[in-house]
Amino acid sequence: MAKGPVSIQQILARAQSALGSLGIATVYRTLNLLLESKRIQTVILPDGQTCYERSGMGHHDHFQCRRCKNVYDLEVCPLHLARGTIVPGGFLVEDHEMTLYGICPACSEAKPKKTAARLTAKRARAPHAHP
Ligand SMILES: [Zn+2]
Ligand SMILES: [Zn+2]
Repeated sequence: MAKGPVSIQQILARAQSALGSLGIATVYRTLNLLLESKRIQTVILPDGQTCYERSGMGHHDHFQCRRCKNVYDLEVCPLHLARGTIVPGGFLVEDHEMTLYGICPACSEAKPKKTAARLTAKRARAPHAHP
C-alpha cells in the first residue's frame, strides 16, 4: 500500500484483515479518539471523500489516481507559492492544500497498450468514470 491518506473503507478493510471481525462503530470510535488527541487529521478530497492521515507531517500535497483511486503523498510541493504572497485581487496567501489528479506509476505501468498521455487526456474529460 502506498504512503498517503486512507479512506474509512481502507481502514476498515485493513483492520478486519489484521484483527478479524471488527465493527465499523469500533473503527469510528478509535478514529475519533485519534482525531481528538490530534494524532491523526482529516483530509477532505475535492470529490468530498474524507480520508485520514498522521498529524505533524508538515506541508505536503496529494495526488489521486483516477484509475485505482489511491491517494498518495507528494514528496515535493509542485506549487512554488511562499506564505505571505499576495495574489491578484489582494488575497494574502497563508497556506494551501492541493490534490492533483492523474495516473499513478503503478497504473501507468499496468497498461502498456495505450500511452499514458492519451489515457490521461481521455480521463480528464470523464472525472468520475469507473474503469
Ligand atoms: Zn493508480
Ligand atoms: Zn504544496
